Amino acid sequence: MPLHIETPLMESRPLSVLSGQSVWLKLEALQVPGSFKIRGIGHACTVYRQRGAQRFVSSSGGNAGLAVAYAGRCLGLPVTVVVPETTTARAKELLALEGADVIVHGSSWQEANQHAQTLLGASDAFLHPFDDPLLWEGHATMIDEVARASGKPDAVVLSVGGGGLLSGVVAGLQRNGWHDVPVLAVETEGAASFQAAVQAGHPVALERISSIATSLGAKQVCEQAWHCAQTHPVHSLVIPDRSALAACERFLTDHRILVEPACGAALAAVYEQATALAACRKVLVIVCGGATATIDQIRTWAGQQDQA
Ligand SMILES: *Cc1c(COP(=O)(O)O)cnc(C)c1O
Repeated sequence: MPLHIETPLMESRPLSVLSGQSVWLKLEALQVPGSFKIRGIGHACTVYRQRGAQRFVSSSGGNAGLAVAYAGRCLGLPVTVVVPETTTARAKELLALEGADVIVHGSSWQEANQHAQTLLGASDAFLHPFDDPLLWEGHATMIDEVARASGKPDAVVLSVGGGGLLSGVVAGLQRNGWHDVPVLAVETEGAASFQAAVQAGHPVALERISSIATSLGAKQVCEQAWHCAQTHPVHSLVIPDRSALAACERFLTDHRILVEPACGAALAAVYEQATALAACRKVLVIVCGGATATIDQIRTWAGQQDQA
């Protein structure tokens, strides 16, 4: 039994009427730990346990850490998550709710991650949030489900952080024979590490992350995400934080589902009718979800954008 669920795939009436296209939603926000990450992380944790892992270690205070904590609880193995001091009280609460040991260490993710590495014993498995072939293999199952349930879309819209979701979706498209279905890879300004890679011709590190979409805040995309863009049609789109926040608010009204700005970024491409999608009749949006932002937080951020 996989640790993820088969999520609903539905046509969005509000988005279809707005755009004049047929807009389909893959509702990964409905995964039990709140995002698509459980597909890849659940698969990786299952494999690592088969290989003898006795404990899972993560350094993500976001949806990846939550997925590891959930997977550990399901598989009956302890989980340790090392997070920096900047991690919100809510994220720590959610991790504790899943029964994970939360260690707060250092002022940045780099420091927390370094500390996590020093904890690793021979029987521990470290779960990377986006750079692991087992993750991509697990994420690809969402496209298998789409291929079983419906016909080929004219484009897939998704958001990009470190590029694990992109790598998994492209793997899924290719293994279902959908080599010609283009992917629109959306990021927010201040977290546009995929666009930086496209412009440089190889993955490069951003100096800093300045977007409120923290789940997209990988300074550099993984090599595989870059490789995908060489072997599959992938287009890059960067939108402002305010568009991602507005999309969260509109999606909550339209579909009664609260998602993080990281997911709002992909939705914004449809709400704001990105020109890259203009020629498509059927658009598939990966509603990747995210459990770490409350509606109060989203509205506070939106208020700050209006003042700026
Ligand atoms: C992790 C995450 C992303 C980005 O995924 P990557 O694999 O890092 O590109 C986007 N949205 C949400 C909600 C996430 O948790």
